[in-house]
Amino acid sequence: MTEHFDVVIIGGGIHGVGVAQAAACDGYSVLVLEQTGLASATSGSSSKLIHGGLRYLEGLHFSLVRESLRERSLLLKLAPELVQLQAFHIPIYPGTSRRPMTIRAGLSLYALLGGLRPANRFRALRPGDWQDLDGLDMKHLQAVYQYYDAQTDDEALTRAVMQSAADLGAGLQCPAEFTTAEITADGCTVNYSHNGMDKSCSSGVLVNAAGPWINTVAGRIHPPPPTTAVDLVQGTHLVLEGRLEKGAYYLEAPADRRAVFLLPWKGRMLLGTTETVYSGDPADVAPLAGEEAYLLETLRRYFPQRPQKVVDRFAGLRVLPAAGSTVSARSRETRLEADDPRRPRVVAIYGGKLTGYRATAQRVMRLLHRTLPSRKPVANTERLKL
Ligand SMILES: Cc1cc2nc3c(=O)[nH]c(=O)nc-3n(C[C@H](O)[C@H](O)[C@H](O)COP(=O)(O)OP(=O)(O)OC[C@H]3O[C@@H](n4cnc5c(N)ncnc54)[C@H](O)[C@@H]3O)c2cc1C
Repeated sequence: MTEHFDVVIIGGGIHGVGVAQAAACDGYSVLVLEQTGLASATSGSSSKLIHGGLRYLEGLHFSLVRESLRERSLLLKLAPELVQLQAFHIPIYPGTSRRPMTIRAGLSLYALLGGLRPANRFRALRPGDWQDLDGLDMKHLQAVYQYYDAQTDDEALTRAVMQSAADLGAGLQCPAEFTTAEITADGCTVNYSHNGMDKSCSSGVLVNAAGPWINTVAGRIHPPPPTTAVDLVQGTHLVLEGRLEKGAYYLEAPADRRAVFLLPWKGRMLLGTTETVYSGDPADVAPLAGEEAYLLETLRRYFPQRPQKVVDRFAGLRVLPAAGSTVSARSRETRLEADDPRRPRVVAIYGGKLTGYRATAQRVMRLLHRTLPSRKPVANTERLKL
């Protein structure tokens, strides 16, 4: 007999496991299908920040920043071993495009949107403290602002959320590649290949959390659900030898004024990211030589004395709405696409942030509740420790 689940989720990235946890909390039976490994795609190649997104203030994305700061505060409490506050430093030189007034105004707004908690305090460091900043170039340095955001291990966070879902009964098939689905008024028939064997199950609803594969997966669903045109934008990180003692640095790339982060990472340094539009198979994304040169040039500008020994490199793909505007100007809001918003059988998650996975999962569940039978909730993601 075909096994039945209330919710089948395609994708074991942070969004897929986040929805699995939220659905299991609401008392539903859940199955996650993941083709490669948990966090094997974007969710394991991020900048590993749980943050409000200071730079999104420039795009006036206030609700995104407010929600992300709220989620940051919640995750600091729910997952203290996985999400920790980190001091960030913004150095300003005569050529820096964002002047001290702008940085001060941005950080004040950031603190305000975050609810004036101690974690949102910021200050200008005294010039006497600049020499302690991990070898930051002091020549012509005009100001250094310090504020706080949080860092995580994105793969460990994804695994922890899946474990939390599994503790409430959610199932995971991995490696299991979703192949096709047939949607009717009564539910979904879901076909997948698990360890080379063709399998199928039925479900009340289907969640497409396939990240960069989202429209490929949508194309395998019959009848075809509505889709959003997207661009895949590659972001590369380098792991470098050397330690940062004072925290993280928020740098402005000399080449194009984009933000580049330098972060402490497992006893080494993580430097990223780039923004390069990508058109190949998502499975083949890899750092480009030009991206590496761009990142190292940025590092050289701010830390001219530090040796540059790259020990690892990785790239991930952002899913952004296809548009004519520059990559950095495009919305980072998560977009949900349902086949029928009044009674959805299929919901797809476009874009989004690691930081906001829990809030996104709640939004997905609000949509799915219109279709699923009501059940007695067994837990609440706002209170479940990870
Ligand atoms: C370079 C970069 C840096 C970032 N930095 C940050 C940051 O610091 N902080 C932050 O909050 N956000 C950050 N983000 C955003 C965040 O990483 C993503 O929004 C998030 O990881 C997306 O998760 P996802 O679950 O939607 O996709 P993914 O993690 O890509 O997961 C999709 C999964 O679906 C699986 N899949 C696809 N097709 C199938 C199929 N047919 N069958 C079964 N499984 C399938 C894939 O194998 C994959 O594991 C960053 C993004 C990028 C690209």
